[in-house]
Amino acid sequence: MNEPLLKCEHVDFGYENYDVVRDVTMEIVCGDYLCIVGANGSGKSTLMKGLLGLLKPTGGTITFSEELKRAGIGYLPQQTPAQRDFPATVREVVLSGCLGRLGLRPFYSQREWTLAKTNMEKLGILALKDACYRELSGGQKQRVLIARALCATDSLLVLDEPITGLDPETTQDFYHVIRHLNRAEGVAVLMVTHDIHNVISQAKKVLHLNQTVLYYGPAEAYRDTACGREFLGGEE
Ligand code: ADP
Repeated sequence: MNEPLLKCEHVDFGYENYDVVRDVTMEIVCGDYLCIVGANGSGKSTLMKGLLGLLKPTGGTITFSEELKRAGIGYLPQQTPAQRDFPATVREVVLSGCLGRLGLRPFYSQREWTLAKTNMEKLGILALKDACYRELSGGQKQRVLIARALCATDSLLVLDEPITGLDPETTQDFYHVIRHLNRAEGVAVLMVTHDIHNVISQAKKVLHLNQTVLYYGPAEAYRDTACGREFLGGEE
């Protein structure tokens, strides 16, 4: 019944003629909250690109549910300075998440406007709809990008180092928003992060990567494993 949204079986990903990530077996089901952790250079971004379908596996099989094949994945990329300065209104940025739904239609219809409005309401940014995106605070920008990602799909939200550059208060607010979307709205979350201490209390599952999978399982059991203790201890 709970068909995985995404499933990897012994998957390898790499570049040119070498593999960076090897033998990954994992899945994301509806309502999951999985965090991928690991040191710099351990292959997290490479795995993420693979899961987004941007890199072809060099081995193993990766399967996407029909829903993800149809709607795609709601992706929140790391923000570059150019994206932070994007000269558009909040509503335009959120609506751009609907682009994949347009098909051959040249303009947004009522359906896309309504979806954008619903997602702005969900993220508490409807009052900012006519504001210029680049004038917003870091936390508000994150909310706009999440609303945008949810316009593509509310099945799976993929976040790459989402708290980079956020202050501690905004970070907590961000986790609160994601937790609410996950627990109350049933949005599955896949997050690559360095922020292991917060992750442990938020996520349902952890995948610790170092070229290959060192741990994949429940978040609460992670701290009792050798790699969990070492990683958590090393960050303190
Ligand atoms: P992480 O996200 O954990 O820091 P990455 O997936 O970015 O790790 O990098 C893992 C390894 O893959 C590194 O050795 C890096 O040099 C290599 N790598 C990353 N991107 C590319 C690329 N586009 N082409 C070739 N090698 C790459």
